[in-house]
Amino acid sequence: MASSDKPGNEKNSLLSKWLKRKKGKQAINRVQAGELAPLSYQQQRLWFLQQLHPENPFYHYAELYRFQGPLRQEVLEKSLYEIVQRHDILKSYIHLQDGVARQKRETRLAWQLDYENLENVSPSQEEMLHQKAYKEARKPFDLARPPLFRMKLFRCGPKLHYFLFTAHHMITDKWSMRVFRKELAELYAAYQQGNPSPLPPISYQYLDYAKEQRAKEIPAQNVAYWQNRFSGELPKLPLAQDKIRPARATYAGAYIKRPLKNEVLASFQTLGKEINGTMYVLFLSAYKVLLHRYTGQEDILVGSPFTNRDQVELEKLIGFFNDTLVLRSQIQASMTFTEVVEQVKKTVLEGFGHKDMPFEALLQSIKAPRSMGENPMFQVMFLYHQVPPTPPFVDHLELDYEPFDLGVAKFDFTLYLEEKEDSLQIIVEYSKDLFEAETIERFLDHYEELLRSIIVDPRQTIGEINILPPSEKEQLLAVEDPSYAPTLLKQIVPYKIEQKAQEMPQNIALVFQNQKMSYAQLLQWSRSLAATLQAQGVQKNTLVGLYLERSIEIGPGILGILLSGAAYLPLDPDYPEERIQYMLEDSHIKFVVCLSASLPVFSALPVTTISLDALGPEMEIKYQAPSLQAEDLAYQIYTSGSTGKPKGVPISHGNLAHSNGARFTYYPENPECFLLMSSFAFDSSVAGIFWTLSSGGKLLISEKRSEQDPIGLGKLIQKEQVSHTLMLPTLYKLLLNLGEPAQLSSLRTVIVAGEACPSDLVKVHFEKAPHIHLYNEYGPTEATVWCTVHHIEKKDAHQKVPIGQAIPHTQIYILDTNRQLCPIGLPGELYIGGPGLSAGYWQREDLNKQKFVANPFLPGAQLYKTGDRARWKPDGYIEFLGRNDEQVKIRGNRVELDEIKALLLQSDLVEDALVVVKAKSPTNISEKLLAADKQALQGALEKIPEEDAIKLLEFVASKEDQEVISLLNTLKQH
Ligand code: AMP
Ligand code: MG
Repeated sequence: MASSDKPGNEKNSLLSKWLKRKKGKQAINRVQAGELAPLSYQQQRLWFLQQLHPENPFYHYAELYRFQGPLRQEVLEKSLYEIVQRHDILKSYIHLQDGVARQKRETRLAWQLDYENLENVSPSQEEMLHQKAYKEARKPFDLARPPLFRMKLFRCGPKLHYFLFTAHHMITDKWSMRVFRKELAELYAAYQQGNPSPLPPISYQYLDYAKEQRAKEIPAQNVAYWQNRFSGELPKLPLAQDKIRPARATYAGAYIKRPLKNEVLASFQTLGKEINGTMYVLFLSAYKVLLHRYTGQEDILVGSPFTNRDQVELEKLIGFFNDTLVLRSQIQASMTFTEVVEQVKKTVLEGFGHKDMPFEALLQSIKAPRSMGENPMFQVMFLYHQVPPTPPFVDHLELDYEPFDLGVAKFDFTLYLEEKEDSLQIIVEYSKDLFEAETIERFLDHYEELLRSIIVDPRQTIGEINILPPSEKEQLLAVEDPSYAPTLLKQIVPYKIEQKAQEMPQNIALVFQNQKMSYAQLLQWSRSLAATLQAQGVQKNTLVGLYLERSIEIGPGILGILLSGAAYLPLDPDYPEERIQYMLEDSHIKFVVCLSASLPVFSALPVTTISLDALGPEMEIKYQAPSLQAEDLAYQIYTSGSTGKPKGVPISHGNLAHSNGARFTYYPENPECFLLMSSFAFDSSVAGIFWTLSSGGKLLISEKRSEQDPIGLGKLIQKEQVSHTLMLPTLYKLLLNLGEPAQLSSLRTVIVAGEACPSDLVKVHFEKAPHIHLYNEYGPTEATVWCTVHHIEKKDAHQKVPIGQAIPHTQIYILDTNRQLCPIGLPGELYIGGPGLSAGYWQREDLNKQKFVANPFLPGAQLYKTGDRARWKPDGYIEFLGRNDEQVKIRGNRVELDEIKALLLQSDLVEDALVVVKAKSPTNISEKLLAADKQALQGALEKIPEEDAIKLLEFVASKEDQEVISLLNTLKQH
C-alpha cells in the first residue's frame, strides 16, 4: 500500500479554493536542458531515508495490473515509451553535485519492457507470478542510474497478462498512477487504431515544480503555526508491541484487510451528516479514540499523508507530491465522541489551512530528533482514500488492479480506509519488527466494535465506550462459582493440621538443624500453648505476637496460637526495634509468645509474654477447641512501608483456607518434605508451613542466612531429601549455578515467587535440573500469598516468563485507568478478586478506599488494586510488566520509594529528593562469585580440598568486585 490521495472533503474544499486562485499561473523559470534541478522537499526526505537504509525496498512503489482479453504487446510497449518520453521525471535520476543530491534528466532514455512467459507454468501459475513479481518489485534501485522504474509483462495465457510497474517512490505516487493509467488507456486506444498520440505535450514538468518549490519561501505564518503546535518534546505513542523494537528498523511489513459491514458504514454516513463531519474526520476521530484507549495517552499525534498538488498543472503530472500532515489532538477519557470529532475537525481544517510547510522542512525547523529505529514525530499513520472507479481500458481488453504488497511498512502502524463504490475496506499495514498478525486482527476487531458502539450512542464518554467484541469480553471475564464460599469452612487450616496429627502421630512434622518434632509432639505442644493463651483470656480474633528466630518452635508457636482461636502476628527478631514496637502498638497487641531467652526484649513493653519453652504438658488437658469461622482472623502480616508506616494485612481463616486449598487443587503432588526458605514474617512462608502441615508432610526450616550459602543449601536438600520448596528466583538461580545437580535430585517442585522470574533462570533450570517442575507464583500479601501461577515451560527461556493464570476460584482482571477491561495484549493494572482477598488493611480506612474497590463485573464483590502492571497474552496467560508506582522489591521486601522520599522531605534541610534503586555490588560470597564468573570458579573449586575451597571463598568475599574478577581470571589461566 502506498500513500494516499485526498484525505477528505476538508481538503477538497480547500483544494478547490486553491485551484480557483492559482489557475492561469504565469510561466516560471523552467529547468533548462542539461540543468540540474534540486530535489523537492518530499524527494529530499526519501533520499535521506534511502541513504540510511540502502537497498531496503521500503520506498519502492509497485502496482500490478491484470489485462483480460487480447493484449497487443507492441501497442502496449509503444504507449509506455511515449509515457516515459512525456514525463521528464521518469527519465530522471540523482546526481551528486558537491555532495548535494540533485536531479538530472536524460533527453532520451534507453529502457525496455521486460517480458516473461508463464503460460506453461502449472498448476501454481498464480503463485509463481506472485513470487516473481514480489522479487522484481523489491529489487533495489541505484538512484544514480536511470531509470528509477522497471516494467515487466507476464504472459499467463493468450487472454491473460499481468503488467508490473515498479518505481522508486521519489518519482511517483498513487495519484501519479492514475495519470499513468489514464494516459496508457488513451495512448493504447490511439496506437491500436494507428493514430498519433492524442495527449497534449507537458509544459510544466516535475523538475520545474521542484525548482519552484525550493525557490519559494515557506509562508511565515505556516512556519509559526507548526512550530507553535510542535514546540517542546513530543510524546511517543506507547503502543504495546509484541516484539522489541530493533535498533535499526528493517521496515518489513504486511497488511491485513477487512471489509466494514455495510450497515455500519451506512450508519456512520448518517452520523456524519448529523454531526456535520466528513468520513475522513469521523474515522480519524475513532482511530484516535482507539489509540487513546490502547495507550491511555491523551496527547495523540497521527500522521496523515496527502498529495500536495494545488495547481491544475500539477494534477496532470507524474511525480512524488505526497506530503504529511501531523494531526495532534488532546483526547480525554471524559470527552464524548462528538466532542472528539469537533476537535479533530478543527485540527484538520487548521492543518490543511497551513499545509504549505513540507514535512521535511517542519522536521528541520523543530529540530526533531531522528533515529535509525523509528519515525520522527509520529509513529502511526492514517489514510482515507476514495478510490475512483477504474475507467474502461479499451474495448475487449479489461484492466483491473490491486495495490501490490511489497512486504514493507514505512510506519509502525497505518490505518488505511479505502472507500470504493459504497463499500469500505479497513486495512492495517504494520511493521513486522513490532507486531504479530493476530494483534492486528484484534485491533481490527476493536476498531469495528468501537464504530458500532459509537453508532449506538455517540455521546458516551470515550473512556467508557465499549471496544471489546462479545467473544473477547467473555474470555476476559471470569465466572464466579457461588457455591464455593461455604466449602471453605470445611477447610479451616488448623483443624486440618490437627486431623493430620491424629492420623499420623509418629510422622515427622518439623525439622530444624538436628532437631525433629513429630506430629504428636507438635499437636501436644500447640494445645498446651493454646490452653495457656485461653487461660490468659485470649479469644477468637485476638492478635497474638509471635517473636521467634527461625527454629523448630515456629510450628507449635503458630499452630498453638491458631488453635487457641487467636491470630498470630509474626515478629521477626531481625526487624529493627522501632518497627517491632510500631507493629505492637499499631495492632494493639497485648500478648506475645516467645522463648524465655527473649523475655528481656519485652520487659519494658505493656504486653503479657508467654514462653513457649516453659509450658507444662498438663495444660494440654485444659484445651478447649474454638469454633473457628471463615471470617475469623488467622494472621496479620505487616507489609512495605519500609520507612513510612507499614500496614497490617489481616488474613482470615476463609482467606487462608482458600489459599491453602487451592494448592491441593492445583499442584499434582503435596510436599513430602518442604524446605521453608523465608522468614515466617513474609507471607510466602504461609505457603510452605500450611500446605505441608495440612497434608502431613515434613517442614524443614532453613537456618538464618542460609540463602547466602547456596552450596550448603544444596547439601541440606540432599540430606533431607527435600521434595518441594519456594524461594526468590534469584536464590534458585544461585542454587542451580553453585549447587551440584546431584544434590537436587530429590526436588520435584520448585516454586519461584516474590519478584519477576527472569527468562535466563528458565534456561539454567532446563539445563541443570529439567526433572524439577518449576512454577512461577504471583500474588500480593493482600490476596493471601498467591493468585496466579504458571508451570514454567522450556519456551519461557525465550520470552518474558508469564505469571500464568488465576488459581482456582480467583478472578484476575486487567483494567485501564477507567476500570474498563483491557483488551488482550494491552497493558493495564492487575486487579484481584475472590476469596483470597483480605478484608482490608488494619485501621487504614483511606488506603482501603483506594486499594479495595468495588468489582464492576460482580455486584457486591470487591477487588484488590495491586499497582502491578500486566497484560493478557493471546494464549491466555498473563504477563507481568512491573509496577505502576514507585514500589520496588529488594530481596523480596516491598519498599515504597515514595515513602522514603516523603521521609527525606520532612527534614528542613532537604528541598527536593529523588530515590533510586542502585544495583548494589553483591555482598555475600556466592553472589560475588556469580557476578564474576561462576564456571571458572566452579572448575577451580572442584580441584582443591574442601577446607581450601572455603578459605578461598572467604578470601574472595573480602575483596572488592574488580579484584574478584581479576582473581578469577588468574585462576582460569592456571
Ligand atoms: P508481597 O506482598 O510481599 O508478596 O509482594 C507482592 C508483590 O511482589 C506483587 O504485587 C508484585 O509486585 C511482586 N511479585 C510477587 N510475585 C511476583 C512474580 N511471580 N512475578 C513478578 N512480581 C511478583
Ligand atoms: Mg508474597
